[in-house]
Amino acid sequence: MYLVSTRGKARKINALDAVLQGIAEDGGLYVPERFPRIDVTQIVEWSRMSFEGCMARVLSLFFDIDIEELEDMAREAYASFSDRDIVPLQKIDEGEYVMELFHGPTLAFKDIALQLLPRLMSKALEGSGEDAMILTATSGDTGKAALEGFKNVPRTKIGVFYPNNGVSDMQKLQMITQEGDNIYVAAIRGNFDDAQSTIKDLFTDPSFISDAAKQGLRLSSANSINFGRLAPQIAYYIFTYGRLVAAKEIRPGQKVNIVVPSGNFGNILAAYYAMRIGLPVYRLICASNKNNVLSDFFESGVYMIDRQFYKTMSPSMDILVSSNLERLIFEITGRDPKAVEMYMNDLKEQNNYRIRESDKLELDGLFFGDFADEFPTANTIKETFEQYGYLLDPHTAVARTVYLKYKRLMGDDTPSILAATASPFKFSQDVLRSITKELHEDAFEAADILADLTGLEVPPQLNELRNARMIYTDVWDKEFIGDVILKRFGTGAGRRKR
Ligand SMILES: *Cc1c(COP(=O)(O)O)cnc(C)c1O
Repeated sequence: MYLVSTRGKARKINALDAVLQGIAEDGGLYVPERFPRIDVTQIVEWSRMSFEGCMARVLSLFFDIDIEELEDMAREAYASFSDRDIVPLQKIDEGEYVMELFHGPTLAFKDIALQLLPRLMSKALEGSGEDAMILTATSGDTGKAALEGFKNVPRTKIGVFYPNNGVSDMQKLQMITQEGDNIYVAAIRGNFDDAQSTIKDLFTDPSFISDAAKQGLRLSSANSINFGRLAPQIAYYIFTYGRLVAAKEIRPGQKVNIVVPSGNFGNILAAYYAMRIGLPVYRLICASNKNNVLSDFFESGVYMIDRQFYKTMSPSMDILVSSNLERLIFEITGRDPKAVEMYMNDLKEQNNYRIRESDKLELDGLFFGDFADEFPTANTIKETFEQYGYLLDPHTAVARTVYLKYKRLMGDDTPSILAATASPFKFSQDVLRSITKELHEDAFEAADILADLTGLEVPPQLNELRNARMIYTDVWDKEFIGDVILKRFGTGAGRRKR
């Protein structure tokens, strides 16, 4: 299938090429030229297969690769997951289902796409003679997931940049102890938006691109702007819906709500795409933390980033510029690249944009956006544990807080799938403090206490970090990042002088 740019000025390219390309040359994001359609019978049939089988079929809607090959890729990608269902489903209350997306190597949902992306990229690189240099800005979880996905993958290099002081202790430790011979990790002074804009700018900086090209490096992205991140995420919504039908929790064709803790808007956009290809959805519930730029947008139709930035206990959602929203805007404007470009220019020049009233109406029937502040989120962790014995991580707790509010407000009993995006052990101090009010400086100590309290085990991926060697301790000002990258990954030829 071909993908087109949301800004309309880049030529269309096939989906596999878009995986290498990352962002379009006109600065837009790649979206499917049209949405393929599947029916509920197919959804149910696909989810009767393994997760990997379902994944392969969903991917085959977009990528011109044989199903068997896709299925092999998926099997390799998910071999290290600790749960054979890959995305197991927990019913925590009547009509409320938690889809656990955190059983991969880095304990966050991003593993599902990022274990697969390198395999798609290798496929795309076949016969090209180039190496891919993947650059990623991370609010915490993407970075580690990308490192795990790309480490030692031939003909790729992976650079990960996180905001200093903007990620949890565990997240930071996961990244700076990463082994592998094709990687680099560093902190950028600033918040996530600074890190993201620094990396995003490199992708459209002609001199950086040509300097890299001189060294045989082709720039690529593992951020959720990459279509290769988005496509695999569609699959778990399809799979989970089919599983609910198979378990007779819902009737085939019955609509469900999907509740997603959102930051860069990638995960919930995948749910929207799933709906566009045929998933029966009633409401998409977009949950933000105290950085409530998205929920304000859904309420007012104004996207406004000129505001205070808060550090919260759900750091992977501490984001003001939600890149993937551009793809939704493209759809609700009736696929009008001129409108998208205008909005994105407004955002760049005046830090906000306002969508047309008619476009907003498109959103209102489908999306519900709200946010949860720190205290209610902590309270949800505590109450959910006390009431159901179920432990939520802070991101998922934001989602459940917003969901409970939505239910109260709307009186809507539609069966609802909550995306659980991270393991609670990854945020052990905050989760423990939410339940017991105890403050623990040491993340491992907190994890041990949490394990005792809940009868769960500390995931081995975290235990391994206890004695891991810290390898990457650099902190850079953002203006140096381009040079640092070329120095690190380049052969030394054609480096920029300053
Ligand atoms: C990345 C992340 C999110 C936000 O997902 P987006 O696709 O950026 O909206 C939520 N929770 C966790 C744990 C994450 O790692």
